[in-house]
Amino acid sequence: MNVDLTIIGGGAAGLAAALKAHKDNHKIIVIEREHVLGGILNQCIHNGFGLHVFKEELTGPEYATRFIRSFLDQGIDYLLDTTVIDVEKNDDFSITVTNDTDGIQTIRSKAVILSTGCYERTRGSVSLPGERPKGIMPAGSAQRYLNIDGYLVGERVFILGSGDIGLIMARRMTLEGAAVLGVAELMPYSNGLTRNVVQCLHDFDIPLYLSHTVVDIEGKDALKAVTIQALDDKGRFIEGTKKRFEVDTLLLSIGLIPDVSLFDSLSFTYSALTRSAVVNQFYESSVPGLFVCGNALHVHDLVDYVTKESEKAGACARDYLEQKSDEKRDEKEVILGDHIRYVVPQVIDFNRFDKPFELAFRTTAKAEIGVFRIYQNDKLIKEKKAKFIAPAEMEKIEIRPDEIDGMDPIMLTMEVIKS
Ligand SMILES: Cc1cc2nc3c(=O)[nH]c(=O)nc-3n(C[C@H](O)[C@H](O)[C@H](O)COP(=O)(O)OP(=O)(O)OC[C@H]3O[C@@H](n4cnc5c(N)ncnc54)[C@H](O)[C@@H]3O)c2cc1C
Repeated sequence: MNVDLTIIGGGAAGLAAALKAHKDNHKIIVIEREHVLGGILNQCIHNGFGLHVFKEELTGPEYATRFIRSFLDQGIDYLLDTTVIDVEKNDDFSITVTNDTDGIQTIRSKAVILSTGCYERTRGSVSLPGERPKGIMPAGSAQRYLNIDGYLVGERVFILGSGDIGLIMARRMTLEGAAVLGVAELMPYSNGLTRNVVQCLHDFDIPLYLSHTVVDIEGKDALKAVTIQALDDKGRFIEGTKKRFEVDTLLLSIGLIPDVSLFDSLSFTYSALTRSAVVNQFYESSVPGLFVCGNALHVHDLVDYVTKESEKAGACARDYLEQKSDEKRDEKEVILGDHIRYVVPQVIDFNRFDKPFELAFRTTAKAEIGVFRIYQNDKLIKEKKAKFIAPAEMEKIEIRPDEIDGMDPIMLTMEVIKS
């Protein structure tokens, strides 16, 4: 099969990118390994999606359905139940796919958008002490068992990590009749959205143990109990703070990692901070014609931001196919200043910086009031005041070509005005 653009993954990111990349003279195909489009949204049956894009509060499936309908209306080609197993590049991309009906096939494509989402960290990624019984699983897997397959994974539950999936599952398991005894978080603040802490924990009287972690797991076969302990501000355990909970389930909400495993055969520039590809303001990786967006690029807190970012990536891929963007690259890194954990895009192509674009970033510090500043050669070129800044929440700042002077790198910083 020969196509102009292959979009790998038919979740929120892939659908938004496809809708923007679509043009009658381009042959586009979306490849999705599940039997339906929509991605992770299909298992997120709670509301809270779409406030920015639709100015409405939708459930995950409702949000996905709106995009799936537009996608089907456009008549864009797609394959379901089909997994991409390899991506290589010679002149064009060779994408190896497999499914039950056609076996292994190769798609030749001029450009690729990678929108494969992310995967959850498991027990092995954090080396939890204790025995290794059944009953310990990532919170997103438990969500899928419950909301898609109809299985309640346990009756007495403890949750490690306060990421959004853990918070959502604390409420969901409670509503289904399970007793959720608490959530332990290593950091002194929650890693989830503030609204989820309030609506999923406070409203259900579920305790959140900040600066705590699991120090023991009991159970030869099935899980019997977990013990947590408090840590001081230097990360040392505090004597006399152990608490033991008799539970049959431990859900882990300890982080998501962008899934760029398909890049294994490609030589691309990797960011250890986002654990994904380094991209420029066109969402193009160091491999020309390979675009990355959505949770495959960096883990987003809101699907609305996934949609907006992926629409831009789709439009950039369309321009690439029309050869509007074949100038030589002159890319400079965005320097991370005080309190900035990461930024996307990580590099700016100054040769093609003729339109405004957004820097999306996360901070390392919490602030009730803070100021984000952009400097170039020590000269302040932009600042933006913000309220209620939290490391879990994504921040954005727009930068315009007329704001910069020459092609020297820019630096992004945050000052905490009130912590
Ligand atoms: C539990 C939970 C709660 C959330 N709550 C909210 C909320 O309240 N409000 C909000 O705005 N956002 C929320 N989000 C965030 C939002 O849903 C996600 O950020 C967004 O849906 C991610 O979209 P994506 O397309 O990048 O990834 P995904 O939806 O994960 O899509 C990736 C797709 O790629 C496919 N794929 C992967 N690898 C391959 C391959 N090799 N071959 C073929 N296909 C492949 C997958 O099957 C999947 O369909 C939540 C997320 C989770 C997990």
